[in-house]
Amino acid sequence: MINPHPGLPELEYLKPASLEEASKFLADHAGEARPFSGGTDSLVRLRDGVWKVNTLVDVKRLDGTHELSFDPKKGLTIGAAVTMNKVAAHPDVLKHYPVLAEAAKSVASYQLRNRATIIGNICNASPAGDSIGACMILDGVLNVHGVNGFYAIPLSNFFLGPGKTVLKPGDIVVSITLPVPPKGFAGTYKKLGRNTIGDLSIVGVAVLGYPTGETKSGYRFRIALASVAPTPYESLKAEAVLAEKSITADTIAEAALAAMDSVTPIDDVRGSARYRKFMVRNLTREAVTEIWKKISK
Ligand SMILES: Cc1cc2nc3c(=O)[nH]c(=O)nc-3n(C[C@H](O)[C@H](O)[C@H](O)COP(=O)(O)OP(=O)(O)OC[C@H]3O[C@@H](n4cnc5c(N)ncnc54)[C@H](O)[C@@H]3O)c2cc1C
Repeated sequence: MINPHPGLPELEYLKPASLEEASKFLADHAGEARPFSGGTDSLVRLRDGVWKVNTLVDVKRLDGTHELSFDPKKGLTIGAAVTMNKVAAHPDVLKHYPVLAEAAKSVASYQLRNRATIIGNICNASPAGDSIGACMILDGVLNVHGVNGFYAIPLSNFFLGPGKTVLKPGDIVVSITLPVPPKGFAGTYKKLGRNTIGDLSIVGVAVLGYPTGETKSGYRFRIALASVAPTPYESLKAEAVLAEKSITADTIAEAALAAMDSVTPIDDVRGSARYRKFMVRNLTREAVTEIWKKISK
């Protein structure tokens, strides 16, 4: 019988002192070494024999990876070593980015969030990553160090498929920056899991809404969906409905249907594709209605 959990293999553990050293090592050992932050995804993959790498490169001593700071012009910067618990409890996150705190708190358990990071959640590129949607609707930009130095990637261009990103060998995500949210905004993350805590999402819906002079409706909504496509993504069709038509219960219902029509979920142990589709509609309607009540007061 095949053992589904062969156990952790023998591994080299490297904790480089500089980004240059780390990027060079990772590029020179492409396919054999990987960066890791909290290890909550990496160790499971290694235990299950999914990865064949022989070296883990710890990013937690590298410059910028412990940063968690808010600047009223630049926004929020979260380093790769910063745990979800630290993010969720930070006063500036709670004040300016409550939807991110809400999404981070929905991940697994307090114990896991003491290791798990936002950057690890993003780089793992699971369609179910709970913090990714919030970072998308907040226009997150990743600060990456590669063999040729620093460059930036907007989160909207980062994902290629399940577990696949645009990162190249040697690339290390040092941090993510989230600009200051628009005036008068409100946001929420609705997660449907099999249990109330500790499970991956069957469906996740992150919504941000704010008044703006740039749309016909006078409002803009951002809607990012998890666990219903090969990558987390924004439902631009649903967003367009809410930008074009004045916001009423019917418009919200139409946007929720557009979100449902835009998804391509699969059947898996957590839920059928059909159930997921309907829950996208229901959770989108619930989330947009909640945000509309807050921003239209
Ligand atoms: C019991 C359990 C429950 C879980 N529940 C949830 C849940 O409810 N919701 C959810 O979204 N996730 C869940 N997860 C998955 C996991 O905890 C999260 O994805 C977590 O945020 C990963 O962060 P990490 O720092 O541990 O990542 P790591 O394991 O360190 O890394 C994850 C991936 O990112 C890459 N990586 C890490 N850091 C960098 C970097 N700086 N630059 C480039 N690449 C990097 C690694 O090579 C790896 O591919 C769960 C995991 C477990 C074990």
